[in-house]
Amino acid sequence: MKRSYLTLIILLFTLIVTNAINSKADLTIQEQTKEFHFDTDSAINRYLSALTIEEKEKSDSYFEGGYWLMIVEFLLELIIAWVFLSLGLSKWIKRILFRFKNVNVKNLFYTIFYLLFAYLISFPLNICVSFFREHKYGLSNMNFGEWLTEDLIGLVLLLIAGSLLIMILFIAIRKVQENWWIWGSGVLTLFLILMIFIAPVFISPLFNDYKPLEEGKIKDEILSMARANGVPAENVYQFNASKQSNRISANVSGIGSTIRISLNDNLLNQCNLEEIKAVMAHELGHYVLNHIYEMIIYFSIIIFIGFAFINWLFKKGVVKYGKKWGVDELSDIGGLPLFILIFSFYFLIATPVTNNIIRSNEVEADYFGLNTAREPDGFASVAMKLSTYRKINPGKFEEFIFFDHPSGKSRVTIAMQWKSEHLE
Ligand SMILES: [Zn+2]
Repeated sequence: MKRSYLTLIILLFTLIVTNAINSKADLTIQEQTKEFHFDTDSAINRYLSALTIEEKEKSDSYFEGGYWLMIVEFLLELIIAWVFLSLGLSKWIKRILFRFKNVNVKNLFYTIFYLLFAYLISFPLNICVSFFREHKYGLSNMNFGEWLTEDLIGLVLLLIAGSLLIMILFIAIRKVQENWWIWGSGVLTLFLILMIFIAPVFISPLFNDYKPLEEGKIKDEILSMARANGVPAENVYQFNASKQSNRISANVSGIGSTIRISLNDNLLNQCNLEEIKAVMAHELGHYVLNHIYEMIIYFSIIIFIGFAFINWLFKKGVVKYGKKWGVDELSDIGGLPLFILIFSFYFLIATPVTNNIIRSNEVEADYFGLNTAREPDGFASVAMKLSTYRKINPGKFEEFIFFDHPSGKSRVTIAMQWKSEHLE
């Protein structure tokens, strides 16, 4: 009898304790649920309101100025073409180059003259836009001498690459005549691939010093993400962009054996580990998802359509004004200003298309980055920091037309949505 009482007491005690533990567990779960409840909208608003009204106005004005600059730059192209064709500069140069028997040499010199003239006539606008405007918005760290040196290096590169490309393109035009635009777009695409291939090795080092990442926790974390995604460690570099500006940035460049990810020192100096990881995971996304190859395919199609457009409009122009301009056919180098004007116009009206192609890859890299770094707050705060040079909260239509990267608001939104669904 005594044993049954004891058994009953033990049983009751066990029941009470178990119940208490269970209810405590319930409570903990309830508490945890309460603690983990995440309000996506207010998190997004918290990030967006971190920007003061003055900062937002400055950022908007810088970015919106870029829309007008697209028009102004095209108008300048129009003036250059007018000087060459209607004012007779083209005919005058052709007369001077008459002594050269070899047509390729003639084309090469004509192109060099054209590029130099276009550079000189654009120079005042160039100074206003790339030097004074950048300084006005606090985006440049270069004095005038440094700026001019870089600008002249750019000009020399343009003269070498541009004149060779035009010379080769005009060989194709003479050889295949009617179907020049099919072969010509092939030539330009191959040239584009060559430029992408040599850029990290021969062009970027002319402007910045590239070196392997400095030893430390940041390097360990970045290379760990790289290894997890099959990106070789020797393909990750850092460079001294602070000599030019305070802009935070990283990129993937090169193709095949020259492909690499580079992050700039502004990113390393202005951001914490979470933010750096978020940015580098995004860049790994471009690398792993083969975006460079995808871009080449898309842009070869755009060039193909563009050349068909030039072929159509150039002929129309020559039929109507050819006599006055002294241009009788496409293989005549004197028509180069018209050729370039039509191509510029084509790229101007294709802006929404090219922006959407680039932006869709950026969105893919954003998601890849969120899933890889798992740093939604790091990603959101970097997206806010990029407001120094990108409008943070554009209209839907505006973002569709003018943005080649998602806006800060779009990025903060996907980061906070990701966070709300992946809390642990
Ligand atoms: Zn990107």
